[in-house]
Amino acid sequence: MWGMAAGLAIGLLARLLWTWAVPLRGFLEGVSREALDPFGQIFLRLLFFIVVPLVFASLTLGVLQLGSLERLGPLAGKTFLVFGFNMAVGVAIGLAVMNTVRPGKRLAPETKRELIAQYGAQAQAAEAKAEERPRLTFRQLVEMLMPRNLLRAVVDFQILPLIVFALLVGAAGSQIGERRRESLQEAMAIIAEVSTRIVRFAMLLAPYAVGAMMCSLVIRVGADILRALLLFVACVLGGIALHLFGTMAALVKLVARRRPAEFFKAVRAVLVTAFSTSSSSATLPTTIAVTQENLGVRTGTAGFVLPLGATMNMSGTALYEGCVILFIAQAFDVNLSLWNQITLLVFTVLSAVAVAGIPGASIPVMIGLCRGFGIPPEGIALILGVDRLLDMARTTLNVGADMVTACIVDRWMLASEASRPGLSPG
Ligand code: ASP
Repeated sequence: MWGMAAGLAIGLLARLLWTWAVPLRGFLEGVSREALDPFGQIFLRLLFFIVVPLVFASLTLGVLQLGSLERLGPLAGKTFLVFGFNMAVGVAIGLAVMNTVRPGKRLAPETKRELIAQYGAQAQAAEAKAEERPRLTFRQLVEMLMPRNLLRAVVDFQILPLIVFALLVGAAGSQIGERRRESLQEAMAIIAEVSTRIVRFAMLLAPYAVGAMMCSLVIRVGADILRALLLFVACVLGGIALHLFGTMAALVKLVARRRPAEFFKAVRAVLVTAFSTSSSSATLPTTIAVTQENLGVRTGTAGFVLPLGATMNMSGTALYEGCVILFIAQAFDVNLSLWNQITLLVFTVLSAVAVAGIPGASIPVMIGLCRGFGIPPEGIALILGVDRLLDMARTTLNVGADMVTACIVDRWMLASEASRPGLSPG
C-alpha cells in the first residue's frame, strides 16, 4: 500500500510537470512506457508464469484429495450456488445505485463529445473484437470447454479447457490403484508448492512494482478524465465497496461463521495484489496460498473453488457490467424498463462467467450486451478512460468473493462430512 501511495504521489507530480512543461512530455511518456511499465511487468509475468502449472496441479490435487468422486458432485453444486448468488446480488446492487444516482443523466454534452473523440478509435477496436466473439450456443460451449487442441488453448491462456482437463485427470487419477494415486497426489502437491514459492519471490518485488505501475498510469491517463466521470466512478466504487464490505462481510459472518474483520485482515495481501494486477488469474497463486495458509481452508476445497472462481465467479465484473450498460443508456437517453433490467441482470451474470480473469477482459463482452439492449455500443468510449481504475476495484471484489465462497463451501463440506464420516478428504 505504501508502494501504491508513493507511486500515485510521484505520478501526480509528474503529471503536473507534463501539463506545465510541454518539452518534457516526450521524456515522461518515455519513462512511463520504457521504464515503469516493463518494471511492473516483471512482477506480473512472474505470476503469469505459474498460472498454468498451479491451476493444473491444484485442481487435480483438489479432485484427488476428494478421495472419491462421490464428493465432487456436492462440492461443485455448492460452489456454483454461491457463485451465482454472489454475482446476482452484485448486479442488483450496481443497478440499484445507478438508478438512484443516475450519473449518465448529468454528463455535460461537451464532455461526452470530447470523450467519444478521444476514445473513438479504442472503442472501434474493442467493437471489432466483440464481433469476433461467437454467440454462446451449445456447440460453442463444447468448443470453449473442450477445444480440439488442448495445448494450443492453454498457450492462448484459455483457462476453462485446462480446468476441464485437470478435473478429468483428477477423476481418472482417483480410480487408479491406491499407491499410484498417492504418488500422483504427491507429484501434484510438489508442483503446487513450488509454484507457491515463486509467488513469494514475486511478492518481494510487489511494493516497488505496484508503485511503478500506479505512477505510470497517472502519468498517462491523467487526473482530468477521471474528474469528468467522477460520479460514475463513485457509483461503481460505492457499489463494489457495498458488496465487498456489506454482502461479503455478512456472508463471512452468517454463513462462513468467521469474524469479518479477521477475514479481511488475513486476506489483505490478496486484495492488494488483485487491485494492482487487475487480473484474477495473476492473483490466483496468492489467493490459493493465503486461503490455505491464513484462512485454513482445506486444500481439497481451495484447489477446487479458487481456480474455478478466478475464471467464473466474477461478482465485481457482473456489477460493473450492469453499471456501465445503465450509464451508457442514461447518457444516450435509452430507457430500460424494470423488465429490461431484470433481463439485463440474468445476461450480465451469464456473460460475466465467460469473462477471462485478465485486465480489461469485460470490455468486448459489454459491447455485446449494449447491442443486445439497443444501446449504441460506441458509448463504451465514455468509460474507457476510467476502465483501468475500475478494473482494479472490480478485480478486488472478484477475488474477495472467491475467497468468501471457499470459506463457505469448506464449512458446508465439513458439516456434510461430519454427518457422513465415510467421505472425509485425504
Ligand atoms: N480484470 C477482471 C479480472 O481479472 C476481469 C474484467 O472484469 O475485466 O477479474
